[in-house]
Amino acid sequence: MKPMGIYIHIPFCRSFCPYCDFYKVRPDGELMQKYTEAVVNTTASFSHIYGRRPVDTIYFGGGTPSAVPGSFVADMLQAVRENFDVAPDAEITVECNPSSDLESFLPAVFAAGVNRVSLGLQSASDGERRALGRASDAARVKQAVALVRAAGIENISLDVMLGVPGQDRESLIETLEFCTGLKVPHISAYMLKLEEGTVFFNRRESLALPSEDEVCDMYELTCDTLESAGLKQYEISNFAVPGFESRHNLKYWRDEEYLGIGPAAHSFADGRRFFFPSDINAFISGAGTVDDGPGGSIEERLMLGLRLAEGVSDLPADFAGRVAARADLAPFIEAGATTLKLNRRGFLMSNRVIFEILEMI
Ligand code: SF4
Repeated sequence: MKPMGIYIHIPFCRSFCPYCDFYKVRPDGELMQKYTEAVVNTTASFSHIYGRRPVDTIYFGGGTPSAVPGSFVADMLQAVRENFDVAPDAEITVECNPSSDLESFLPAVFAAGVNRVSLGLQSASDGERRALGRASDAARVKQAVALVRAAGIENISLDVMLGVPGQDRESLIETLEFCTGLKVPHISAYMLKLEEGTVFFNRRESLALPSEDEVCDMYELTCDTLESAGLKQYEISNFAVPGFESRHNLKYWRDEEYLGIGPAAHSFADGRRFFFPSDINAFISGAGTVDDGPGGSIEERLMLGLRLAEGVSDLPADFAGRVAARADLAPFIEAGATTLKLNRRGFLMSNRVIFEILEMI
């Protein structure tokens, strides 16, 4: 049986960033303790339902996993090991906010087996970071990378944002040079999206946002700079030194199975998609998951897989051929007999190109 991934959502943030629409609440000692117990219990009940399945990736995301004591993360990890068959070389990632107390958090999670760290840099320009609501400065991010390395862990990812207020080509170059100078083996570079209901969305008229053309230029500059530094683009927004791709996130894009634990966490197992409602109290009280229908359709495989540089394979032969025959799509795709992938131009226009391809099913 193919190993699955386990995602554990840690829905606590000390401050709320003005662009973020993820589910999160303020950390509180008693709530965090109860939450940890609920994650432990849910892990056991998932094991009763799906069996002691092999697991080769575990991902603590948020929210802010580093906002809880490291011992709580260790307890959750222990519950996964007790209830699932965790591979000895499993990739175990924890997302960290550089402004957290990493000096005490990191030793506890490393002792528990965490072997990959994803740090939120967003920008090396302190002005841009402040506009994004980030408390720490770039020097603290550098210090955080050093703390991770001091524990012997090289598998580090930095998050960068494109199209943020006040950003221009020069400040992006500064950010990219900061990342490549640190020689981390993985970078995620996401374009800022104004999500409804966020502070940024409500203030969108007054934000000094770069134009759409400028953001496209920034994206191309990012791809070129990171590729020249040896970080190969393996997904629309993700770059890695070969061998350091996020094994956990690859499961999402390859339409493979994973279990998500915590409010707002989604799962795909035994052909079904389901999720926990975005309500921490309901989760702590033991409320179950909500069915989200069948998974694994060709639409889903294309929607997720076309984000990857490797594209989608094993497509019905006539389908790849029909897409390849579309003159308007030709500049954006590469098609084989049963394979389809987007090129750089396709990545830039991915929403439109993927929409057109899905319309052909
Ligand atoms: S720290 Fe992360 S999850 Fe929390 S508000 Fe900021 S972007 Fe959102």
